[in-house]
Amino acid sequence: GGAWNDYLEIRGLHVEFDGFVAVKDIDLTVMHGDLRFLIGPNGAGKTTIIDAITGLVPATGSAMFGGEQLLGRKPNDIVKLGVGRTFQTASVVEELSVVRNLQIAEGFRKKTREFFKRPDTVSQNLLDLMDICNLTEDADKPAGILPHGKKQWLEIGMLLAQDAHLLLLDEPVAGMTPAERQATGELLRRVSRNRTVIIVEHDMEFMRQFADSVTVLNQGQILAEGSVEEIQNNEEVVRIYLGG
Ligand code: ADP
Repeated sequence: GGAWNDYLEIRGLHVEFDGFVAVKDIDLTVMHGDLRFLIGPNGAGKTTIIDAITGLVPATGSAMFGGEQLLGRKPNDIVKLGVGRTFQTASVVEELSVVRNLQIAEGFRKKTREFFKRPDTVSQNLLDLMDICNLTEDADKPAGILPHGKKQWLEIGMLLAQDAHLLLLDEPVAGMTPAERQATGELLRRVSRNRTVIIVEHDMEFMRQFADSVTVLNQGQILAEGSVEEIQNNEEVVRIYLGG
């Protein structure tokens, strides 16, 4: 990681569904080390942008990460380029232990013959990851019995295990307790130091506390971009989105 081109550069991204323009010709650059929040009213196009750059919906334009074009590739190939994504609902394998979930994620990117084989020892990389993600004491528990917050941390850990350098997170703190939110923010701050992180979020307090930068989307277009302070003082943003 940390290559000179380890950042996301979107140019002229455009997505239509049966003639309905969901994302209209947007430019968006997110630098390495940035914890970027993507906010905006329901239907603004936030999820569609993430879907487009992870290969789930067809799009035109350009989305470069690590010097590679993401558009036009299959989702699995995009994962192998270091792009990882979480969904609002946790997608861990509930029956398997925390460490086994992480081992599967680790094996996926390597794509070796070892993929289906259970490694006898846990790699130092995964021990470090569990430490960072507050999961050390839960290593051998089935993922399904983890409380909601820890399931989300396991998902983030799985992205790290698959060596994602661009993390796309959909409402990571939804349904969390205040203590879990705080821990998640600290985790993401740490993770974003040497990665590129985009968080789709509705929780404005969480954004205020942890965002390095914010992009506001409205009706498929970028309405504003800047620091939390700049966004909060932007009259158009306040009127359209933060108002009330
Ligand atoms: P957000 O994530 O900001 O709430 P979305 O990206 O989910 O917004 O949606 C943007 C717009 O695109 C919405 O009007 C939504 O109804 C529409 N849309 C999203 N996905 C599809 C789809 N698969 N087919 C048709 N319309 C869609």
